[in-house]
Amino acid sequence: MARIYKDHEIDDSILRGSTIAVIGYGSQGRAQALNLRDSGFNVIVGLRREGRSWKLATSEGFTVYEIPEAVKRGDVILFLVPDTEQPKVYEEKMRPYLSEGKSLCFAHGFNIHFGIIKPPREVDVFMVAPKGPGAKVREMYLQGKGVPALAAVHNDYSGKALQKALAIAKGIGCARAGVIETTFKEETETDLIGEQCVLVGGLMELIKKGYEVLVEEGYQPEVAYFEVCNEAKLIMDLIYSGGLLHMLKNVSDTAKYGGLTVGPKVIDESVKEKMREAARRVRDGSFAREWVEECASGKRRLSELMKEVEAHSIEKVGREMRKLAGIES
Ligand code: NAD
Ligand code: MG
Repeated sequence: MARIYKDHEIDDSILRGSTIAVIGYGSQGRAQALNLRDSGFNVIVGLRREGRSWKLATSEGFTVYEIPEAVKRGDVILFLVPDTEQPKVYEEKMRPYLSEGKSLCFAHGFNIHFGIIKPPREVDVFMVAPKGPGAKVREMYLQGKGVPALAAVHNDYSGKALQKALAIAKGIGCARAGVIETTFKEETETDLIGEQCVLVGGLMELIKKGYEVLVEEGYQPEVAYFEVCNEAKLIMDLIYSGGLLHMLKNVSDTAKYGGLTVGPKVIDESVKEKMREAARRVRDGSFAREWVEECASGKRRLSELMKEVEAHSIEKVGREMRKLAGIES
């Protein structure tokens, strides 16, 4: 069973009196900076002077520094710029200032796990990864609640890296829900496998192919859209709030029987084998290499693939149907 830490068992005194430097003021950066400050920690923000976030962070009461200066002043550095930007920012603006005794905290393990960023030995490296977008992290905190988080240690120079990670998680409010101990490897690999096979890749393809089949079989695109895309949310809401059985109990017996007998024939063992193949490519680093190369060459393939989705008829029909239903204006 996973080790789950709760608020009352975490002693955050280890970071009282420390300076926490939040690098980046986007989705996670803003939420984590505000929550940590409201939890009584000493927080500064590190940004590019020409960037858009500088004004916002200043107007919200933070002392903002250029990134190298924030790294120099910080004891714990929360690295909250996009993962694809991190290697460059790290090399140019952080590495020279990461002196002995400092801590570097990530919110996702990709760059550490795949060895793209290699911090010095005399720096603690750990992760606090909230399992929700920044807006939710802030909203729940203000309600006296929290979103769960994962915590992991990559390098424990001080012998207290886990304690520090848990203190950060508590300050962000995540320990009010629970902080699950994991490893950089597990967090990174499950994140990639999950988004490729199920969340972003799997769900989108399932909806797209379901729509294509209905349209190719001669049904009207508008009807097909409502059936496979719009209703997917209603089903997902049921699964989200109460689990699979709860969803099944809330659809007709016809839908139950059809789903339970035909579903496993559509999403069959061959699909599972392809998921295993995707998992292998994540684990052996092939996907990470491919993605790093894609980023280095300006993400050309990504923008082509995005254009293909944009041109798909489900997008055009979908927009009209969402307007009709008052979902999109
Ligand atoms: P974001 O895109 O919302 O914010 C990026 C911030 O970094 C902005 O302030 C931006 O100005 C700054 N930035 C961008 N490029 C920069 C550069 N080249 N130099 C300096 N600053 C730059 O990013 P995010 O979604 O908050 O992600 C931050 C980290 O949090 C990532 O490691 C991500 O994996 C992790 N994370 C995100 C979520 C989420 O839901 N958004 C959830 C869990 C973990
Ligand atoms: Mg993900």
